[in-house]
Amino acid sequence: MTRFSAWNVFRNGLTGQKGWSRQWRDPEPKKHYDVVVIGAGLHGLATAYYLAKNHSVRNVAVVEKGWLGGGNAGRNTTIVRSNYMMPGNREFYEHSLKLWENLSHELNYNVMFSQRAHVSLLHSPAAVDDAARRYNTMRLTDSDGELWDLEKLKHTIPYLNYGPNSRFPIIGAAVQRRAGTARHDAVAWGYARGADQHGVDILQNCEVTGVTRDNDKVVAIETTRGTISAGKVGFAVAGNTSRLWSMAGLGNLPIESHKLQAFVSEPLKPLLDHVVVFGVGGAHFYISQSDKGGMVFGGDIDWYKSYAQRGNLPIVQDVAEAAMSILPCLGRVKLLRHWSGVMDMSMDGSHFICKTPLNNLYLNAGWNYGGFKASPASGWYFADLIANDRPHPVVENHDLQRFERGINIDERGAGPDPKLHG
Ligand SMILES: Cc1cc2nc3c(=O)[nH]c(=O)nc-3n(C[C@H](O)[C@H](O)[C@H](O)COP(=O)(O)OP(=O)(O)OC[C@H]3O[C@@H](n4cnc5c(N)ncnc54)[C@H](O)[C@@H]3O)c2cc1C
Repeated sequence: MTRFSAWNVFRNGLTGQKGWSRQWRDPEPKKHYDVVVIGAGLHGLATAYYLAKNHSVRNVAVVEKGWLGGGNAGRNTTIVRSNYMMPGNREFYEHSLKLWENLSHELNYNVMFSQRAHVSLLHSPAAVDDAARRYNTMRLTDSDGELWDLEKLKHTIPYLNYGPNSRFPIIGAAVQRRAGTARHDAVAWGYARGADQHGVDILQNCEVTGVTRDNDKVVAIETTRGTISAGKVGFAVAGNTSRLWSMAGLGNLPIESHKLQAFVSEPLKPLLDHVVVFGVGGAHFYISQSDKGGMVFGGDIDWYKSYAQRGNLPIVQDVAEAAMSILPCLGRVKLLRHWSGVMDMSMDGSHFICKTPLNNLYLNAGWNYGGFKASPASGWYFADLIANDRPHPVVENHDLQRFERGINIDERGAGPDPKLHG
């Protein structure tokens, strides 16, 4: 595999770009793998990469029903941050952000990680107090965070709706400067290329249609490209987790599948060089500007359960209203595209990286709207779990029994309703 380097770019520029090799192979499935990871989204690909790199487990397949990165991996609004507060989540997301900071070098692939700061708008004294608690916790636990008053916010981001009659008056902001955005496809491609380099087989157009068990053990998976036997199996299928879970004969999960829509506008001249977020009074909105100039934004999930990967007009209206309330200058900007992905919404808004009732089956799911930023750490800890057959202390409470044990990792304090966790 050709490495990316200044010299190789220069050399290929002079020789008609003929010196580049394929980024990953397109192998035929083998009869048996030591580990089969189902789902070639960010989490599945990162898991395979860290299994091979950190744990020298190389007889690994990633099985994907479509094309790699075609699920939520390639549909998200690419926000990366670590402003989490609950024990377990705090350490997990900070580890993830640290992995992001070196990811382009680690993978020798430019994931375009841009630490442009994540700015959460605050609209009431209570929100300022709440943010002070969260951001002080972050500062005390090896992360960064700051509170901006209105004057500083106006100076830094002048185009927000600061008018006296604004729908949601702004009084300040909570800011994480190391947060930002990355290029989602590049992350999927970078992990795929890295995993492939370590010998991992990435099997696309290979849908899992059945899970064969021998009592408490998975012995094989049935796929559209034949039966594959496996020593260990990991589920990393995001919004399709309940389907796979039921194929394994395991009943219900504390997860609901809802769709989340995203939007991009026509390209504009540079307008916003931060990620701006607000959530107040039933409105939820986040926006950034892509390197091509498009305004990339989104809002809440559709509140009914669905596996449909398409948008609808009520959410267009809802999100456009939120956009207008905070950035009225977007009023005449045309919407270029909008789309949707299927979110694995858990009861407390936090994820699962855990063992399951089957001895050699492992679960990675429950990412809500937050799984893009999580993907490096998710792969890192899931690989650690699969290789060592025990959870790392950072994820030991992120299991399916936490509700029975009374463990609280409800980051939003929204209660046991998946729809309310963003
Ligand atoms: C519109 C939108 C905006 C978002 N914005 C953000 C954001 O700004 N920041 C953030 O942190 N997160 C965000 N997210 C969430 C994030 O994208 C997801 O949590 C994350 O991508 C999920 O992990 P994944 O990449 O592994 O999932 P996916 O990419 O969905 O991967 C799962 C894969 O499993 C495959 N699969 C399913 N069933 C089978 C089967 N039977 N056999 C084989 N393969 C199967 C699917 O085809 C899919 O490729 C957003 C999501 C959406 C949809």
